[in-house]
Amino acid sequence: MSEADVVVVGADPTGLVTALGLARAGFRVLVADTGRDGIASAYCAHDWSVLPGLDRLGVLDDALRAGFASTRWCLRVLRSGERIDLDLRVLDGITPFPLTLHLEQAALCRILEQHLAIESTARIERDVRLVGLAQDDAGVDVILDGGGAPGRIRADWVVGADGIHSAVRRHIGLGFPGYTWPERSVVALIDGDLAELGYAGTTFQVDDRYGAVVQRVDDRRWRYTFAEPLTLPVDRVAERIPEALRAVGDEAEYAVLEWHSARMHQRSAERYRVGRVLLAGEAAHVTNRMVGHSPISAFFDAFRLTEALSAVLGGHADDTVLDVYAADRRRIFHDHAAPLSASRKHLISQISDHDRLETELEYYRRASADPGALRDLLLFNRELEGRSPLDSAGR
Ligand SMILES: Cc1cc2nc3c(=O)[nH]c(=O)nc-3n(C[C@H](O)[C@H](O)[C@H](O)COP(=O)(O)OP(=O)(O)OC[C@H]3O[C@@H](n4cnc5c(N)ncnc54)[C@H](O)[C@@H]3O)c2cc1C
Repeated sequence: MSEADVVVVGADPTGLVTALGLARAGFRVLVADTGRDGIASAYCAHDWSVLPGLDRLGVLDDALRAGFASTRWCLRVLRSGERIDLDLRVLDGITPFPLTLHLEQAALCRILEQHLAIESTARIERDVRLVGLAQDDAGVDVILDGGGAPGRIRADWVVGADGIHSAVRRHIGLGFPGYTWPERSVVALIDGDLAELGYAGTTFQVDDRYGAVVQRVDDRRWRYTFAEPLTLPVDRVAERIPEALRAVGDEAEYAVLEWHSARMHQRSAERYRVGRVLLAGEAAHVTNRMVGHSPISAFFDAFRLTEALSAVLGGHADDTVLDVYAADRRRIFHDHAAPLSASRKHLISQISDHDRLETELEYYRRASADPGALRDLLLFNRELEGRSPLDSAGR
């Protein structure tokens, strides 16, 4: 007899969304995480496409109360001063939430955790590290180190939502092929009045030297994400931030509250399922941390995996639906999330040729002027949702 239907390793967005979905469906879930709270400068602008899923989970109202909604996205071309505005309200009637939810990832996770705490079949163990996995035909032995959890837990299924350095992925023998960009991303969380300078809720600042993604966190705080070559010394990132933020003004205009730098990768596990162990979110795939396709894909992984695991645990489908989940999410990463992320990063910070840049910008100018073209551009993110694993298998 297993002690949990599912052990979810990792209590950040992917793990918490999966755990909450499973607990709401009545399944016994244990979530295990090494840490306590996320980093304030982690992601904060949640795409319209994931909001219906958060609503179905019953957390969107709380999230909107804790954060705020914005409907404007803009491109700001630094050299010419051109500004291209894109208004999400063209999605009125297509989605109930034509907006971006601005809320720090850590705050969203706290809301998810509060909802999880109400579920009698769910439990979160903090300060525990997954150190081993052994599976057979009937279940998985999960070996945890630290905290109050027993060292060994028997589960029917395990979800690895433990991020880019996933221990789950390693323990099931999967590599993480792909490549590392020759740049690192730097996120500076700053206090300043960037709205006054014309920044929208989300702004792609297009420039081959000062390119950045700028996102509003709340009334005063903004996330300013840029890329810099890996050849620059990592121990002197802080000294270079004022120069990278030149477009905002001199240092008197803002205060850097915290910053975080990381190497940028484009990688995917060879498979997202090995027996009774499944991968989701950044444990499964990662792309550059500039433009937000990692978190969008992570939410959709969690929604789809919840559907598939609930159907299997509830006896409504056989486990081939988990193969469909695994194959479909991997295909979507390779066919959509990875190329789109790479091309957006390229547009924001890497095009020095004037004609090439004009061609790329024309697409956004057309979208800004033509609601139909803008809808097509925005609806692309639905490709990241993919199909329900239950549509085509095991039913
Ligand atoms: C500082 C920062 C800035 C970011 N900025 C951007 C951005 O600008 N654009 C963008 O697209 N994305 C960005 N991201 C990435 C985005 O937030 C991720 O897509 C998202 O965090 C994916 O979530 P996840 O739940 O899959 O993994 P993670 O958020 O990495 O969560 C993994 C969880 O697993 C836990 N864990 C790890 N190992 C173990 C173990 N052995 N045992 C138990 N628990 C374990 C960790 O403590 C963590 O809570 C950023 C992330 C960070 C941290």
